[in-house]
Amino acid sequence: MTESGGKHMSIIRTEDLCKNFGDLQVLKNVNLSVDPGEVVVIIGPSGAGKSTLLRSINTLETITSGQIFIDDKLFCRVKQGIIQEEMRKAEKKAALLEMGMVFQKFNLFPNMTVRENITAGPVHVKKVPKDEADDIARELLKRVGLLEKENVYPARLSGGQQQRVAIARALAMEPKIMLFDEPTSALDPELVGEVLAVMKDLASQGMTMLCVTHEMGFAREVADKIVFMADGQILEEGTADEIFEHPKTKEAKQFLGSIL
Ligand code: ADP
Ligand code: MG
Repeated sequence: MTESGGKHMSIIRTEDLCKNFGDLQVLKNVNLSVDPGEVVVIIGPSGAGKSTLLRSINTLETITSGQIFIDDKLFCRVKQGIIQEEMRKAEKKAALLEMGMVFQKFNLFPNMTVRENITAGPVHVKKVPKDEADDIARELLKRVGLLEKENVYPARLSGGQQQRVAIARALAMEPKIMLFDEPTSALDPELVGEVLAVMKDLASQGMTMLCVTHEMGFAREVADKIVFMADGQILEEGTADEIFEHPKTKEAKQFLGSIL
């Protein structure tokens, strides 16, 4: 937690965020904050609303009500499905570019080489000169251990390698925060470790991260804060020790009992 002029700073904060799909209330008054440099891990059973929360933050879903703040600035305020107030378009675009997102499915562009996948965003969105973007891409590929694959097409890579490229692609946009939605759950077990290693490396370098994962070892090792969600609500949050060793709610006890 950072204090500046007595004011609490956060990269992302939601206030009373609600999301309905028709009559189904998928998120119910979710208050979540991620501070600069913090690694927040969201855990919870399938259907809890974890993906919907990330997608709402990233505007892939429009929220039903509540407020989202980015860098302590109001991103949007919604009531009964109607936007009451939001950032101006240019500011909104800049705020969204601050978030890098990595999904369960790597969805790399199949018709582009690994390096082109990474340079596409910087070149087309941020107007970075091509040769500069190539240098950045190679630097990032080195970081995720895949420099030798720069001219290869995604189909030639393993799932773990594709996911590492997807992480490099997100990093190429120089995000302030990385959102991960179960980045290892589509991988064969033997490929999970290499992706987690890249994520641990990112965390150790101070990247702000919001991760949904079932990898409890990773959560224990790198999370500053663990958020337990069930049935559209945050039921508990705390340190790894608090959540894993001393869960309070019966839902958390049951969930942890089923996976540990
Ligand atoms: P989690 O990621 O925790 O498994 P999700 O956010 O994917 O949970 O889903 C939460 C609930 O919202 C589930 O009941 C799911 O069926 C429902 N849901 C998710 N997306 C949609 C959608 N586009 N339309 C209708 N229901 C949805
Ligand atoms: Mg999900």
